[in-house]
Amino acid sequence: MIKNLATMNKTALSNISGDQKTIFVTTLEQIPAWQQELSNAIRSVDALCDRLGLQEILSDNLGCHAENSDNDQLLSAAIKQFPVLVPESFLKRMTPAEPNDPLLLQILPTSQEVNKVPGYTQDPVKDSQASFAPGILQKYQGRALMITLGQCAVHCRYCFRRNYPYQQSPKSLEQWEPSLNKLREDSRIEEIILSGGDPLILNDHRLEQLIQQLESIDHIKRIRVHSRLPIVLPSRVTEGLLKLFQESRLQPIFVIHANHPNEIVDDCAEALRRIVRAGIPVLNQAVLLKGINDTTETQEKLCRRLINLGVMPYYLHQLDRVEGAAHFEVDVATGKKIIDELKQKLPGYAVPKYVREIPGEAGKTELQSQAGS
Ligand SMILES: *Cc1c(COP(=O)(O)O)cnc(C)c1O
Ligand code: SF4
Repeated sequence: MIKNLATMNKTALSNISGDQKTIFVTTLEQIPAWQQELSNAIRSVDALCDRLGLQEILSDNLGCHAENSDNDQLLSAAIKQFPVLVPESFLKRMTPAEPNDPLLLQILPTSQEVNKVPGYTQDPVKDSQASFAPGILQKYQGRALMITLGQCAVHCRYCFRRNYPYQQSPKSLEQWEPSLNKLREDSRIEEIILSGGDPLILNDHRLEQLIQQLESIDHIKRIRVHSRLPIVLPSRVTEGLLKLFQESRLQPIFVIHANHPNEIVDDCAEALRRIVRAGIPVLNQAVLLKGINDTTETQEKLCRRLINLGVMPYYLHQLDRVEGAAHFEVDVATGKKIIDELKQKLPGYAVPKYVREIPGEAGKTELQSQAGS
């Protein structure tokens, strides 16, 4: 229905009379293209395999064809808990019938997820011990992180918050009130990080309300947005969205999340350029992932694509040891070697900091490169 409305042209609309027309026009206005794309996103392994021509190739390894082994049942349970989710724009950047596509590997559930590996836990970064107020985490001085909502536009299989109890976060602005009041009382907090989930899933109206609330707290100077939407759903980067941040008293900083150079093409590259041209600083964080971006060549290409668009590589994260993600881990020695080699090939500003999150530390812990130790 929505799709039909969106493709309906003006002539068609003018043939509809009176009240009916008003209803159609407002419906069109209320559902932005990015929300339509999100609601049409792929949400099952079967649909994903069909779309990419992978049914035959992958049937042994995952739930393309549900079989009855114990492993398949465990996998089905895992997928149910953290379902497949991937929008068309991100899919378009994958190579069809290529089971090792680096973008596909980030979102494809596999039977390896159900392996129990010692040291891999539900809450590896101890978010549960960093609660400042409901929906707000504080681990580091001067900045606090708001879990704005649990939804994302993509489900990354290595996500360290895949088990986060999002239902405990406030929902409406009224529910946020007590937590915002706690922020109001703590003048040491200068920067708010909107996180989640993905904060840009909020529509412009709700974002505007949230920004206004934060603007009303004098000691807050900066608003940071941690979002993967510019990468996986670039149509979210509208003029209206950028305007919200350009016009705010708060200094905006966007931190995006791209792991592989193949992500930074076409509509995604254009969206990043739009954010940068709007005068908003944009930084990238990546996660070091086995078989996806664990070579110097791939990291170099990623960094070059980013800086050519004016996006600064910020962090390269060592994987957080969340249950189900062990097969993505790269050893630290490899990570250090990659960083050392990047330092020889790229301008200083283009080399990300290689970090790991250690619960209880005052900030992310930098993994010193061999050259410096
Ligand atoms: C990573 C993180 C931050 C941001 O740290 P920066 O080093 O400033 O990027 C803030 N709060 C929490 C809870 C974090 O995990
Ligand atoms: S976009 Fe970020 S929060 Fe969402 S699933 Fe991916 S890594 Fe996790």
